[in-house]
Amino acid sequence: MNTNDLWQAVLGELELALSKANFTTWFKSTFISEVDAHAVVVGVPNMFTKAWLEKKYAREIMRSLQEHSNGVIKQLSYRVENRPLTPRDIPLLEKEIASTKTPEIHTHFQSSPQPQQQEVRTGEFSLNGKYCFETFVVGKQNELAHAASQAVTNQPGGVYNPLFIYGGVGLGKTHLLQAIGNEIIRKNPQTKILYVTSERFTNDFIGALRSNRMVEFKNRYRTVDILLIDDIQFLGGKEETQEEFFHTFNQLHQNNRQIVISSDRPPKAISGLEDRLISRFECGMLADVGSPDFETRVAILETKCREKAYQLEREILHHVATIVQTNVRELEGALNKIIAFHQFKNTKPSIETVKPILTSFQPISSRKSVTPKQLIHTVALYFDVHLDDLLGKSRQKRLAFPRQIVMYLMREEMKSSYPSIGSELGGRDHTTAMHAYDKITNCLLEDEKLQHDLELIKQKLYAL
Ligand code: ADP
Ligand code: MG
Repeated sequence: MNTNDLWQAVLGELELALSKANFTTWFKSTFISEVDAHAVVVGVPNMFTKAWLEKKYAREIMRSLQEHSNGVIKQLSYRVENRPLTPRDIPLLEKEIASTKTPEIHTHFQSSPQPQQQEVRTGEFSLNGKYCFETFVVGKQNELAHAASQAVTNQPGGVYNPLFIYGGVGLGKTHLLQAIGNEIIRKNPQTKILYVTSERFTNDFIGALRSNRMVEFKNRYRTVDILLIDDIQFLGGKEETQEEFFHTFNQLHQNNRQIVISSDRPPKAISGLEDRLISRFECGMLADVGSPDFETRVAILETKCREKAYQLEREILHHVATIVQTNVRELEGALNKIIAFHQFKNTKPSIETVKPILTSFQPISSRKSVTPKQLIHTVALYFDVHLDDLLGKSRQKRLAFPRQIVMYLMREEMKSSYPSIGSELGGRDHTTAMHAYDKITNCLLEDEKLQHDLELIKQKLYAL
């Protein structure tokens, strides 16, 4: 096996073992730079990647290297180095060069940074000081996003631009975006930071168009040092706004201004998002945040108690962390409820008084109680189709696909039999249900958007 094949084999294995975001981020630009008798030097694009690979993946990489080299390789080290160019890189490179022209707006801003500073940091653009790194609890599910966010504050506009953070509701995306802003301001109070949701961006844009104030709009958005844009998924389907955002993005990016984006799903899974934006978002760093595990949930509760200067016994914290598993926002909600209740009654919380308060926060085990009707209803709502149409005869794709998803979920989540699935869905044959199940199973292997749709549907379903 030659060097390249060896590394490809290792990468292939890692790709299967890691989340897509993790894999792309850390291994995309790695290569074997040198091999001698028993040692391999892996080339990596920067120090941050080097440190991360050493810390997190040393064992996996080594094991895989040994296996694929039949035990010949015994030593592994990393070196910051640019990958040798291959013919495939040339078009990319040309693009890069073409996009490094000197900007005009940049100079404009340099000469008058002060007036807008105020505006950026007041009203709806303000950063909330409570969202900082100190109050952010790091666990396995968010360590990548956290580390990347910190890297960005150390070198804004540097290696990770844009930084794209994605994950479900209430998992700390806004917290991280704001923490980045707060930290950069702390380090350099002159920095011009703009935090907006993509909805706010859209409204601003529409408002500017209507009132003929596009120049102001452009000045506001294209002259910042750091653009933090939250919940970008809402740009899906909004073509004009996307067009404007594309230019904003390019302008900032070309000037090495840092852009941080959050989304409830990865770029490719945002429906109605233009390809050119997807590829822009993917060209920096993708980092996902997932649901916290038990230990992290407890640590978060402890942090929140400290913030609120309220004391809860460990047993109670553990109980809350057992009951509330979905997301951090709910965890905090549960805690607030407990505090409010006991402050109102002026009593000390005990496990007995806490238990009844948490009944509304359902544990995962109660998931089984979902009925076929609820499932059908949730899917219909999610795809915005009528219940009657969903159960009806039409084979239009916009109906047939959600219908197949219902069948799939009934099988997968509720373990229904194919004949009963068929009859729940307007008296269809069991073979139709079987076909739907196979089809969706197959699609899921490839289709990230579908994976994500199903995840969201399940979230909604079990939140009922
Ligand atoms: P998202 O934007 O992903 O929907 P938020 O950032 O608004 O979620 O987080 C919801 C709440 O949970 C916020 O109050 C936030 O401070 C808190 N939170 C989320 N993740 C963490 C964490 N890892 N450590 C501490 N607090 C967190
Ligand atoms: Mg948010």
